[in-house]
Amino acid sequence: MKKLELETIIGLEIHLEIKTKSKLFCSCSNNTKLTEPNVQICPICLGQPGVLPVFNKEALKNILILGLALKGKINLISWFDRKNYFYPDLPKGYQISQYSLPFIKGGCVEIDSVDGVRKISLERIHLEEDTAKLIHSSDDQWSSLDFNRAGVPLMEIVTEPCLKSPIEAKIFLQELRTIARYLNISEADMEKGQFRCDANISLRPKGEKKYFPKTEIKNLNSFKAVGDALEYEIIRQTKLWQEKKQPKISSTRGWDEKKKNTYPQRSKEDVQDYRYFPEPDLPSIDFNELKKEDIDLELLEKNIIELPGTRKKRLIQMYNFSSVDANILIENKGLVDFIEEALVKLREWIVSTDIIDGTEEEIWETSKHQISKVTANWLINRLLPLLKKDGKNEKDISLEKFVEFIVLIYEKKISSTLAQTILERIFVKDENLSQIMDHPSVKQIDSEDNLIDIVREVIKNNQDTVDKYKQGKHQVVQYLIGQVMKKTNGQANPKLVQELFEKELS
Ligand SMILES: [Zn+2]
Repeated sequence: MKKLELETIIGLEIHLEIKTKSKLFCSCSNNTKLTEPNVQICPICLGQPGVLPVFNKEALKNILILGLALKGKINLISWFDRKNYFYPDLPKGYQISQYSLPFIKGGCVEIDSVDGVRKISLERIHLEEDTAKLIHSSDDQWSSLDFNRAGVPLMEIVTEPCLKSPIEAKIFLQELRTIARYLNISEADMEKGQFRCDANISLRPKGEKKYFPKTEIKNLNSFKAVGDALEYEIIRQTKLWQEKKQPKISSTRGWDEKKKNTYPQRSKEDVQDYRYFPEPDLPSIDFNELKKEDIDLELLEKNIIELPGTRKKRLIQMYNFSSVDANILIENKGLVDFIEEALVKLREWIVSTDIIDGTEEEIWETSKHQISKVTANWLINRLLPLLKKDGKNEKDISLEKFVEFIVLIYEKKISSTLAQTILERIFVKDENLSQIMDHPSVKQIDSEDNLIDIVREVIKNNQDTVDKYKQGKHQVVQYLIGQVMKKTNGQANPKLVQELFEKELS
């Protein structure tokens, strides 16, 4: 019998809460840090009769920024639709959403996938209001409703069914989250429910072109849950295909985090008919008219910043960062902005010194890889972990101090043992670098007279190593330098020590 080979097809629907001052259709604050329930509410977001929604153009600006950044097509005339359904978290009995004409059609997100670079196509991005939040007690005895979230602006981003695996789905979501943060349109924090995901998955025999009925897994609230739920579904659906019981209709399932399985929620037949129709309380949106109200598409497009994927490629090419370092840096816009600023300052410094001869460009070309390596290493592996212990991050680092510190290391004025102590003193204890450097316990020993005896002693006590050096293994000098550093508590000038060894052993 021919073995049944199946392939996976995944499509995602992402809800992203938009960062704005006020809600989508009323002036209530959209403060995400709030913990007290039902204090950011008004008759509009409570859906009381006799009120009219007023459209918040700030939310529109943000969805347009994302649409333009992802190269989607803007529908120049658009409107809102009513999505009618009954649920306790929906006070009006309908949700103001978009159906027939979303603001954005198409677009794509480029990801570094397991199969190399892939362009994940989007079907649409539309704007809608969020529902209130339903909170259920752990014993299922009561439920409570928090309307602070009702009416918060929400984007729905729908991909084409073009993702091939759970890992690819996770990579896509991570990239989308980073993009949203870069563009400053959403905090996109999954734990806070600002970034929520439904995943559609179906299987089909390899080579088949048509799509088969899909399963929608609702409300996945972490990247791990997305991956785990999709993995589970692949196993469940593969078994159904092997038994010739593959799904005949589309269905909806939930994800049980504790049991690590999906469970049926409702089948296609009982999905409500939403009876969409154009929202009569809001005028349609014509972008030619909006230009007068400060929403200028050309201007928005001109101001789109470099996206993380492009920036990562540029950083690797420009500074030779390892891909591990580039990934750590790129995920946090504050951090990558910081290191780029530091490198600009370091460039200014190195071209103004006379360590190397040449034009500014030549000097920078010769030194930039080493400087970037030292900078990334001290920032990522030494300074950030140190600050983290204190509950601080890159925002607490003074750029000037950091640059001064890197210069010391690059010029080899301090050993790395000493550097670690100094790092702690200037960034955690907030001490002054020049004062530290003047102190006798730190001050570098850079006089030949003070070092030559120690160098000679090290030579005398390490005859084996010295023999190796004399046989041409010149790299062993590093070991000898290390011995001198140990004896001087890291205060000896390593460059000078090296020169002394070379002289003594020649
Ligand atoms: Zn309100």
